[in-house]
Amino acid sequence: MSDRPILAARGVTKRFGGLVALDGVDLDIPRGVVQAIIGPNGSGKTTLLNALSGASHADAGSIQIDGQELFRLKPHRIARLGLARTFQTIRIFNNLSVIENVKVAGACNTPISLFGIVTEDARQKQHEAEIEHRAREALEVVGLGGRANDRAAQLPYAQQRLLEIARALASKPDVLLLDEPAAGMNMTESMKLLGTIADLKTSGMTILLVEHNVRLVMGISDRVVVLDFGKKIAEGTPEEVQRNPKVIEAYLGRRHRHA
Ligand code: ADP
Ligand code: MG
Repeated sequence: MSDRPILAARGVTKRFGGLVALDGVDLDIPRGVVQAIIGPNGSGKTTLLNALSGASHADAGSIQIDGQELFRLKPHRIARLGLARTFQTIRIFNNLSVIENVKVAGACNTPISLFGIVTEDARQKQHEAEIEHRAREALEVVGLGGRANDRAAQLPYAQQRLLEIARALASKPDVLLLDEPAAGMNMTESMKLLGTIADLKTSGMTILLVEHNVRLVMGISDRVVVLDFGKKIAEGTPEEVQRNPKVIEAYLGRRHRHA
């Protein structure tokens, strides 16, 4: 295995009119780590995830996954290169069952030819079985195996967030981007989520965890990047970052700036 970072970004810049939401952000994420991206609200975390996943392209910069340039590729192409994400707000199909939600997501990323669909029934069946298998596996990972046949809308909020993660897992990504996955969860639910993230790391996945609550990510992250006003202001181990005066100022000072 190479030492090359699985995800490398250089000079990622994004403007919304006169606002510079991301200002030349560099990232190097080694394979198999939990990398946190923290920062006050509005600091550019979601914009960065959007740029990495192709949901909303950056204006300038380079983003490589395992050495492959993905700057300006469409989201489904980026997904095929091994990157999956969840969104800050829940995006599930309320009327579908829990497992159907995951299967729909997984179907996008299993190799199949259209020719195969019309000509080879056996291959089609095998394909469907593979999607079903992956979906069940993903639900087990997030602890929703027992709710597979319930309607997604019936799940309590915290479990809907876990379902989002299962949907992202269905494509068997190398890199998983999570945008504030614990938002709206109570402490018990958040702790359980952190356990699931730790399990994913053990399985070899690289995880990018976006969070504005500093404390939540400290115990689980190998490395932390801190954004403030679209700029990377600090980077290091959780301990280093927590002691960094710039980080303390960004979090404590923000209240005064808005006062
Ligand atoms: P975070 O996720 O860290 O809270 P965001 O990435 O959502 O921050 O936002 C960064 C900045 O960009 C904020 O000032 C926000 O208002 C602005 N912004 C984000 N998305 C848009 C958009 N689609 N149009 C205009 N401004 C946006
Ligand atoms: Mg955000």
